[in-house]
Amino acid sequence: MSQSVTGMTESTAAALLSKAFNHDKAASSGPHETKKVAAHCHCGAVQFTVGLPAASLPLRGFICHCSICRYTQGTYARTGVVLPPAIEPDWADGGSMPSEKVASYKVPGYPTARLFCSSCGTTIGGHGENGQWSMPVTLFDEKFWEFRVHAFPKSVPDGGKRRRPFGIARTIETPFVAAQPERATDGTERLRAECHCGGVSFTIPRPSQAIIDDAYLRDYVSPSDPTKWKALLDLCRDCGRLSGANVVPWMLVPRVVIEPPVPSDLQEQPYGTLKTYKSSALSTRGFCGVCGATVLLAHKHREPTAAQAVLNVAMGLLRAPEGVKAERWATWRAGKPAWAEDAKGFDEEFTVSLVEGHRRWGVERYGEAPEFDVI
Ligand SMILES: [Zn+2]
Ligand SMILES: [Zn+2]
Ligand SMILES: [Zn+2]
Repeated sequence: MSQSVTGMTESTAAALLSKAFNHDKAASSGPHETKKVAAHCHCGAVQFTVGLPAASLPLRGFICHCSICRYTQGTYARTGVVLPPAIEPDWADGGSMPSEKVASYKVPGYPTARLFCSSCGTTIGGHGENGQWSMPVTLFDEKFWEFRVHAFPKSVPDGGKRRRPFGIARTIETPFVAAQPERATDGTERLRAECHCGGVSFTIPRPSQAIIDDAYLRDYVSPSDPTKWKALLDLCRDCGRLSGANVVPWMLVPRVVIEPPVPSDLQEQPYGTLKTYKSSALSTRGFCGVCGATVLLAHKHREPTAAQAVLNVAMGLLRAPEGVKAERWATWRAGKPAWAEDAKGFDEEFTVSLVEGHRRWGVERYGEAPEFDVI
């Protein structure tokens, strides 16, 4: 597993990845000591505990950069663990998984389904081909993992998140499939965002003169390049739990420029397969009801009037030909990921490594790490 396996399909390599996890640890663990950890989705409809052999801890976590994870979650990577063999969740009601509350998405060509809460969209995970559970660490409040593997880093030609931040020895690689550039009928460039199942698909233009002339919306145009929008990494627990990744990349885009038009507050009318969930008094989330991808976030703090609403677009869904960071479309607030201090309480190693790596990348890219406001 230490060798590159470029050329494998993602599903084949994912199976190998899964098999590599936690077998040896589980085999050496005794039957007596078990650590119980609790997990739940954001809305609380899906809850369970997992009993982990103490000798297997910490579990080795993985960071998967594959396109399936990006497009089914809206993030740049899934941050997960594979549970030891034969470890099953103990569901809250003492029975089996509450299938009426859990939606299932079968990735074409992939033998197992990906599960998510049908009410709030929280990624639950699923069984790997070998029968072991694979789950996002973000379901849990108590850390019992150490990230040790990047999977499919070659899926992200511009590096995605910081490369190999954890002294990682093993990677599994697949080639990147480049997206094609798109243009509107008037010839102007458009950037597509699309979830894995294709049920939610829309395009974004570059900032127009009308946006730059708007006293409110102009603040969402890149301060260094008026042809780009603002982008940032968000480490808050709400975004993390819902999307199934420690960090969510957002691009901030005025609602009125998205095509086809996004309904006000995301929910006045159907928008493809988008479902909505109110994650707080001021926040409404949009996720795909078919594949579970995090798609949009509307926040009342960024809506002085309905016509000036600014939405967070999940950047894992973007199909920029230049790579996942969509650098021809976005200027990154590389000096200041959102909610980093809070995130240290959840996973300090990951957070510190990500913040440092993102800042270093910003200095390389821009000469300094930008720290502009986004409200
Ligand atoms: Zn839920
Ligand atoms: Zn993946
Ligand atoms: Zn979808």
